[in-house]
Amino acid sequence: MLLDTHGRIIEYLRVSITDLCNLRCVYCRPPEGVALVSHNEILRYEEVLRIVRVAGELGIRKIRVTGGEPLVRRGVIDFIARLTALDGIEDVGLTTNGTRLPKLAAELKAAGLTRVNVSLDSLDRESFRRITGFDGLDDVLAGIEAALDAGLDPVKINVVLLAGMNERDVPAFARLTLDRPLEVRFIERMPFGAEWAVNPPNPFSALTALEMIREEVGELYQEERNHLDGPATMYRLDGARGRVGFIDPITGHFCGTCNRLRLTARGTLRPCLLSPSEIDLKTPLRQGADDEELARVFRIAVNAKPVGSAPRKSASTGEGMNFIGG
Ligand code: SAM
Repeated sequence: MLLDTHGRIIEYLRVSITDLCNLRCVYCRPPEGVALVSHNEILRYEEVLRIVRVAGELGIRKIRVTGGEPLVRRGVIDFIARLTALDGIEDVGLTTNGTRLPKLAAELKAAGLTRVNVSLDSLDRESFRRITGFDGLDDVLAGIEAALDAGLDPVKINVVLLAGMNERDVPAFARLTLDRPLEVRFIERMPFGAEWAVNPPNPFSALTALEMIREEVGELYQEERNHLDGPATMYRLDGARGRVGFIDPITGHFCGTCNRLRLTARGTLRPCLLSPSEIDLKTPLRQGADDEELARVFRIAVNAKPVGSAPRKSASTGEGMNFIGG
């Protein structure tokens, strides 16, 4: 079991398999693009699988594959099949922008994927295009349907609250949960990406979104806390099939129950999303470290987890989530 110095059991590893993405979300990547990391810098699937196998022996139980956009990396289906087959790994989920799900949802399910989170910040075609740089709303909506049809469960939709860009979408997103078994989660925007450093946005809090839904759609009833909900506080509209959640890293308390580590595509372990410190795993891996040595690096990363961070105060490092692994 991996226990951090604050008594939290660390059993969740988020694994970024690429820095690349087929969208250009304004808050994640600057329009001029990001410096490309050379191919050789990115961990090979074999290397990721070895790291996860060692992590599983240490007590990691849940994996979430992310990026960049994980579904743009070649060979991802076979990689997920091998990941889900590893001893000790009980649950493998995926975070995606959904654009490739119409094609891949059924194959992902067959490869053993259980759950999927689709990132979608607007239900309006034009504002989707403004936020992501692409006219792709229909693909993402089809991807969500494909994920439901394939039997991925749960299918969650992650909506970043973007002041001046998606306020009008909030009630519409909540309404999606009335007749579909979707979990729509509203997430406060965090201080990442070059654009934040230049132009910090107005706050758009989870509480504001919750009040908008109460006013425009109906009463929200809080659900009992479940460890599978992660940092989200979950609610249900009267009679709804799905649920609505709120994640408030900026205005609320987000860190106390943190049970995760991140493996970046460049092969570093990141103990805390909100702190730039990282621990190099790729160098020892490529220099021939044995499993015991890799396990030691894991324990160092677990011990480096801070009790919490203050994102409001932390200056943006200029790195977007594509680089950190969202
Ligand atoms: N491409 C995949 C996707 O779109 O889900 C996975 C990577 S993406 C970086 C993961 C998530 O991070 C997305 O839901 C995205 O909206 C979110 N994200 C990126 N920058 C963020 C920020 N500054 N604050 C909050 N969420 C952010």
